[in-house]
Amino acid sequence: MPFLVETYHHIIKEVEPLDVTLVAVSKTKPLIDILDAYQFGAKDFGENYVQELVEKYEAGPKDIRWHFIGHLQSNKVKYIAPFVYLIHGVDSEKLLIEINKQGKKINRKINCLLQVHIAQEETKFGLDVNELKQIMQHLDQFEYVNVLGLMGMASFSDDQEIVMKEFKILKQIFDTYHHQDAFKNTFKILSMGMSADYKIAIAQGSNMIRIGSSIFGERIKHH
Ligand SMILES: *Cc1c(COP(=O)(O)O)cnc(C)c1O
Repeated sequence: MPFLVETYHHIIKEVEPLDVTLVAVSKTKPLIDILDAYQFGAKDFGENYVQELVEKYEAGPKDIRWHFIGHLQSNKVKYIAPFVYLIHGVDSEKLLIEINKQGKKINRKINCLLQVHIAQEETKFGLDVNELKQIMQHLDQFEYVNVLGLMGMASFSDDQEIVMKEFKILKQIFDTYHHQDAFKNTFKILSMGMSADYKIAIAQGSNMIRIGSSIFGERIKHH
């Protein structure tokens, strides 16, 4: 399925006045779909797989802002460190240390979001509140990382109440740091909401949504 331009414009019209950034999640989709979206003004694209991201970066327009939204393995940080615009899923201190190390090597400060576990499913990655606190307490240790905020994924559920409550919790956690003097100039992004739940996420205070299937069509399941 090609890029669904009408849906894209519909969502953009809805979120732009609210200062919410739409990240077009293009994972598994061919470059031609990305170019299509780019022509209609999309500049932020999200990918989940390192090799796929590198290939698309090399072939695509150089002013695209590439977001890495998947689970990132430490040994692969080096491939995306030179160009990635924002890494959403930092879910361990070990990973943060590696990002800092790779940033230092190339003298580039790398933008990151810390991923917080809010869903009921065990399988979703993320820090718990204590792990987050640990990291936030010595952020200045990571000279080559800009921690710009938080990312989270709600439970995969038809129950909107559950989803709403999980986003609400993440917003509260976000606010505790966002309102601290030490962070208030840098800690500004709250990435939550996907095709199925972005309206709920925005109502709970999201300012960055990651939209894939609504604008690029369903993905092939196995990927
Ligand atoms: C795939 C993915 C999305 C996009 O999901 P859709 O339901 O297709 O909008 C958003 N966030 C993350 C972390 C993803 O892996």
